[in-house]
Amino acid sequence: FSQVTGMQKFTGCVHATTTSLHRQTDKHHPLENLTSVEVGVDKNVKAGSSTKTGRNRQECLGHPALVTILARFFGKLLGQELDPLTNVLVTVGAYEALFCCFQALVDEGDEVIIIEPFFDCYEPMVKMAGGTSVFVQLRPKAAETGKLMSSGDWQLDPAELASRFTERTKAIVLNSPNNPLGKVFTREEMEFIADLCVKHDVLCFSDEVYEWLVYDGKEHIRIASLPGMWDRTITIGSAGKTFSTTGWKVGWTLGPDHLLKHLRTVHQNSVYHCPTAAQEALAQAFQREFDSYGKPDSYFVQLSQELQQKRDWLVRSLVAGGMKPIVPEGTYFLMADFSEFKSEVPDVPDSDEPYDSRFIKWMIINKGLVAIPVSAFYSTPHKRNFDHLIRFCFAKEEATLKAAEDILQQWS
Ligand code: PMP
Repeated sequence: FSQVTGMQKFTGCVHATTTSLHRQTDKHHPLENLTSVEVGVDKNVKAGSSTKTGRNRQECLGHPALVTILARFFGKLLGQELDPLTNVLVTVGAYEALFCCFQALVDEGDEVIIIEPFFDCYEPMVKMAGGTSVFVQLRPKAAETGKLMSSGDWQLDPAELASRFTERTKAIVLNSPNNPLGKVFTREEMEFIADLCVKHDVLCFSDEVYEWLVYDGKEHIRIASLPGMWDRTITIGSAGKTFSTTGWKVGWTLGPDHLLKHLRTVHQNSVYHCPTAAQEALAQAFQREFDSYGKPDSYFVQLSQELQQKRDWLVRSLVAGGMKPIVPEGTYFLMADFSEFKSEVPDVPDSDEPYDSRFIKWMIINKGLVAIPVSAFYSTPHKRNFDHLIRFCFAKEEATLKAAEDILQQWS
């Protein structure tokens, strides 16, 4: 390790130029006086090399074989040359990647914009870092008559989104494809968000764990590849979603060194190192994908084809059973409106528990069908407005999808 530095959060603007906005905070983070080791700058250690003991000091940032292939693979997709040592950090799942982002880059008093519905850990993680979540909603527009609603029908109001950016905004969290809705943000939507980030000198934490699960020929856009965004974006990925290995807990972040160095400090002083065996397996899987990228035998191509068929199967079953599914453009989740079934479970207006949660408990016990309440993906003031929706997962064995179909057919 070449340098010993005091731990400091990123507090300034993305570019250290005199023209960009400077938002310095005079508040100190409680960990600021901790001594930590700055890593990733040991020029004597090359990614892919190792010492006689089989481990080198870089391993805490990621197994050399893995950071090397991640840099090659995503460098190509992002149109950006990536240095395996300074632009890649391997984490214990995307969860740790997110945690490092908030802990490293969000300070007390900072605002973080979160798009609703959102993956539920964002809000508590912002809070743990001392920040404040500012919510903006994707709003459904009516589907064309006779057509099922699509996740693409849920959109941000541009003026409402713009109004959420203030002097205190440190970052926006973008999750495309989105869990729980399955929305895949279009290039135009991404460009609008990117322009606001550049205009207000705001960071973007881009949670792209479902990047390969995109259907109907839709394109996954990487916001870091848009003009002005590389320098202010942390891109987050997950082996769990990419190679269907949920329990393995390997994730990664990609980004500029001036941001990743702060994540490295958090990672090094909390988790330090992710299990090597899983990282090596992932490196080999990525190498295979690199060689077959875009070809029919690519795992990514086959996985999305298989899941699209499963999505369509569950959609048909839900329609036949009387629910109104919102057809997702991505992810392996699907939200459905169960309003038609409300008479089966009486509402309790003053209950602390949202209606969708109570409905699901009833459904599990009485019908043997499991889903997740969509209210769990909303901030407290907005939960009640969406408690007529539940989220299903269709990354299931055929026998399970058949069982769901049978349950829905025999419901009444
Ligand atoms: N982000 C989103 C949007 C997710 O849905 C999940 C997992 N459900 C994660 C991050 C965490 O991924 P991992 O399992 O790799 O920690």
